[in-house]
Amino acid sequence: MMKPIIGISGGHLIDSGGRFPGYKRAYVNDDYVQSVVKAGGIPYIIPVVDDEAVIEQQIQQLDGLILSGGDDVSPLLYGEEPLTKLGPTSPERDAFDKLLIKYAIDQKKPILAICRGVQILNVAFGGSLYQDLSYKEEANIRHDQYSRTDMPTHNVIIHEDSKLFAILGRSALVNSFHHQAIKCVAEGFKVTATARDGVIEAIEKEGEDYVVGVQWHPEMMAAKTPAMLALFRNFVEEALRRKTFV
Ligand code: MN
Repeated sequence: MMKPIIGISGGHLIDSGGRFPGYKRAYVNDDYVQSVVKAGGIPYIIPVVDDEAVIEQQIQQLDGLILSGGDDVSPLLYGEEPLTKLGPTSPERDAFDKLLIKYAIDQKKPILAICRGVQILNVAFGGSLYQDLSYKEEANIRHDQYSRTDMPTHNVIIHEDSKLFAILGRSALVNSFHHQAIKCVAEGFKVTATARDGVIEAIEKEGEDYVVGVQWHPEMMAAKTPAMLALFRNFVEEALRRKTFV
């Protein structure tokens, strides 16, 4: 059976020790790769490059794009100066992710955006972020859990009339490894899930495009939690459905 090609946006990993301290490697977390395979897709890692024509063709090769997690998005991209609790940023990756998004939208490729992915997606379309959740008064749930990566720790309420509602139903238990979150939602997007403290946990693009973003890490849960695998399945099925046969 035909399977769709799913690209996973890469990042850099700098060796902290071993034989090559300081050496820069192109990587993604293996959980993304395994989740795509389990969901019926063919995973490819998309390495960070800065050549726009190369990025355009990277996207052309794909049937769907996963925007993976990583560093904080630079607040300069949404018109703010860095506040004291901002984490590490990666201007190189910000620029790369923005171009991946631009060409995926142009070419009508489905997008599943995860953690940093949903944040850069929101910023790319003109939205903004809380640089740290302590800057949002009501945010009193632990969103940066100490528990295992595959262990869900807080509830999200899912809004009706969303793709997420069709997949997960009214609520879901999710893991949480973020200290930032969406502040102003980009025009053309709607909020599709919130935590009980009001923190935005998922958004979707309005209209015909398949652009789904979640603040938690379904890839870390998919091996044990069928509902989170279903999120990947839905995305992979959509990538196959929209695949352009030439
Ligand atoms: Mn959370």
